[in-house]
Amino acid sequence: MNRLARFLLLGSLGIAAMPVAAQEPQKIKGPDERYKVDILVVVAHPDDEAAVTPYLARAIYDLHKTVAVVFGTRGGSGGNDYRREHGPAMADVREIEARQACAKLGIDKVWFLNGKDTASQNVLNSLANWGHGESLEELVRIVRLTRPEIIITWLPGIFIGENHGDHQAAGVLATEAFDLADDSVMFPEHLAGASKRLEPYLENLTPWQPKKIYYFSDANDQKQFAGHGFAYSVREVSPSQKKPYWLLALRAAEPHLTQFPDEIHRWSSLSDEQIQKAMSDPNKLWWSEPETLLFGKSMVPGTKATDDPFAGTAVSIDFHTELRTTVIGKETHRIELRLGGPWDFYRDFRKRHNLENLPEAATPGIAIKSGTTLTIPLIVEHSPAIGASTLKIDVDTPQGWRVESGAGSFQLPLEKLTEMHVDIAIPSLTADEAKAKGTGEVTVRAELDGKSLGDVKLKVQLVSGGVPQ
Ligand SMILES: [Zn+2]
Repeated sequence: MNRLARFLLLGSLGIAAMPVAAQEPQKIKGPDERYKVDILVVVAHPDDEAAVTPYLARAIYDLHKTVAVVFGTRGGSGGNDYRREHGPAMADVREIEARQACAKLGIDKVWFLNGKDTASQNVLNSLANWGHGESLEELVRIVRLTRPEIIITWLPGIFIGENHGDHQAAGVLATEAFDLADDSVMFPEHLAGASKRLEPYLENLTPWQPKKIYYFSDANDQKQFAGHGFAYSVREVSPSQKKPYWLLALRAAEPHLTQFPDEIHRWSSLSDEQIQKAMSDPNKLWWSEPETLLFGKSMVPGTKATDDPFAGTAVSIDFHTELRTTVIGKETHRIELRLGGPWDFYRDFRKRHNLENLPEAATPGIAIKSGTTLTIPLIVEHSPAIGASTLKIDVDTPQGWRVESGAGSFQLPLEKLTEMHVDIAIPSLTADEAKAKGTGEVTVRAELDGKSLGDVKLKVQLVSGGVPQ
């Protein structure tokens, strides 16, 4: 018997003679921990992330948190201030600029939804143009993959300022994803897949409930948000980086050349010391001091709006408690006039998503360009439905503004909710005149069969640019 044969024989005898070893339990593969993050940022456009990079720098460098960013669009519209590429080619460029900007803070998990830039202040235009359902599914998928503790996103609401519909759409989608990602009947195909090896369309993701959601806004007046969330200093010096957070954020914005080439060239030629000297005036900074992360809601019991976002997030929580019990109140006998369009959408959206503590404008308002038409969407609710009622609409405007349509007497159809709108031509003003005349207020009054339905007021700020209404 040669040595090999003896070895094999002994080996086999040996195995037969040994007691049977306890079988190793089969390993169930867990989710991919490389993709688990602490913070998921959901914004609309490449460069929007810069609104919160001072906070992200703090979270990453000094709190050792991990971050992923989702952009709603790839930024292919608008002007290229750097070189000549435009349209889809510029979207290719802007995607890389955004990835490089995130990479400067060490963020390598960056996704883009299929949204298209939509130049309007109406969130419904953006949701329609982005493919609301497709975008939401993808965002829920990303939440289930990245399992964030907190989500930070644009404020879904209407405030005088840039008031970009795309920004608001990012906030709407992030809020919806916050509420849906843990719900196993929403996109259940994401969660299925463990039973068979070859189910190429099932995803094996994890249902996930983020613990808190915070917002930031493009409103002109940031002071109105004081006290509504977690305030953080942008001028504080990072203990680990020995630089103020605003400077780390500014350096991270340097790849966005197609948007701010002049500023970026100016900063990038300056040393950290020079740039700090140049920015010693707080009004020159892009960010307010302090900045506020507006508190949306929390799954952690006892959370206060001003708490640190990560307070209480370390404990595991039974999420399946209160959140989904909200029912929109059934208001059967209601007769009123109210703002329609995006204002009416947000009225229901905030109720449905438990966001009624989120700040809203004291008087509804919008900024629009002089020389354009202001459209005021209205809803006349006359429930239960009454037919053959006569509605009378009166409109008060500042001097020189002209009501084009929507005022007068109307016969209402037999329905509970009637949508209509008032159009008002705003005279063309020079930039100086617009500044001097500042803000105007429009009041719309309604009467139904001679009975007052009350009025709605809209504050209108005239500006020389910005996205159209
Ligand atoms: Zn933007």
